[in-house]
Amino acid sequence: MNRFEPNLRIPGPTTLPPSVRDAGSRQMVNHRGPEFATILNRVIARMKPYFGTTGDVAVLSCAGTGGLEAAVVNVLSPGDRVLGVSIGSFGDRFARIATVYGADVTKLSVEWGRAADPEELRAALAAEPAPGYRAVLLTHNETSTGVMNPIPALAAVIREVAPNALIVVDSVSGLGAVPFEMDAWGIDLVVTGSQKAWMSAPGLAMVAASERAWAVMETSTTPRFYLDLRAHREWHAKGQTPWTPAVGVVYQVDEGLALMERETQAGVFARHEACAAATRAGLQALGFELFADPAAASKTVTAAKVPDGLDWKAFNGEVKERGVVLAGGQGKLTGLIFRVGHLGSVTLGEILDAVGVLEEVSIALGRPVEAGAAVAAAQRAALAVSGVLAAATVPA
Ligand code: PLP
Repeated sequence: MNRFEPNLRIPGPTTLPPSVRDAGSRQMVNHRGPEFATILNRVIARMKPYFGTTGDVAVLSCAGTGGLEAAVVNVLSPGDRVLGVSIGSFGDRFARIATVYGADVTKLSVEWGRAADPEELRAALAAEPAPGYRAVLLTHNETSTGVMNPIPALAAVIREVAPNALIVVDSVSGLGAVPFEMDAWGIDLVVTGSQKAWMSAPGLAMVAASERAWAVMETSTTPRFYLDLRAHREWHAKGQTPWTPAVGVVYQVDEGLALMERETQAGVFARHEACAAATRAGLQALGFELFADPAAASKTVTAAKVPDGLDWKAFNGEVKERGVVLAGGQGKLTGLIFRVGHLGSVTLGEILDAVGVLEEVSIALGRPVEAGAAVAAAQRAALAVSGVLAAATVPA
């Protein structure tokens, strides 16, 4: 870690590994020339295994929200019946985008902190009269609550009860950090963003679509231009993008994927698993109650409740003073929870540092915490996940 830089523990943008930062400062090339084509083709090829698809992936120059909007405008038509499954503020946003474009959206709102229940979803799908929903919107990793939805189980229910519904997944903060098998699970559209697991600056949204989704795009009637996925597919076949892309971010994602290839996909997933376990154990040892249902705890962001009586502003100010940047709560959770991001370029060392700082500040502010206990709990939890320490030796 660089002691002159903050330990940015927010759930994206993540810090940039040095080689990714350097990649972003490289000189421009002709985005319609062979050098750029080589890079774009490599980015798409290396990203497909993380989507779990052999199909086409579109690289859009926009924020993750632009990727969600692309999903909506490409496959939905005004008046389409849509089920928006929301487990937090990003699920609400996805449903809102569909509503703004004229879809007839019914929301299945789940209590924040919980994952969607496949049986509740089954009932919601079954309650819809024929011909059923045109699409179901799902959030893979709900960044606002630190909850990861069981996408394979939810998709299986949709495929069974509503086989004609498109399954559209926001995996902006999940993909690249945890296993995802778009083709095997029968998912139609998946969206991710460069500033999350891909360890790059914000600026690109990647959208993968199934053959069924590509076919629907030919008949859907929502107007679209900049976000037209068909235009992206057409130009990608020539190693180009339809409009001038965020070239510097494409360089960065290319380098991020090279680092991920060196680490191996299994290694990337194991690191996220270990960092998540360490964060949860460290926070609990500090006396913080975790917000998410433990069975659905996210591998990329952990949310904890602000305890009664804790002056969060003062606490967070001290934490920031020591170089650790946490994220607060969003929307209705503002002031009630705080979040620790652990995705992208995160290392166990950075998590132990963050837990150590939280420990120091807790002790300084008179919270009943034993020096070293939380760091030890975090370390043990991570080592148990990695198999270095036998799970049996880890205190509950
Ligand atoms: N969806 C999820 C789950 C997210 O975490 C985010 C960003 O944090 C977004 C969508 C929106 O991405 P962006 O802020 O890049 O528009």
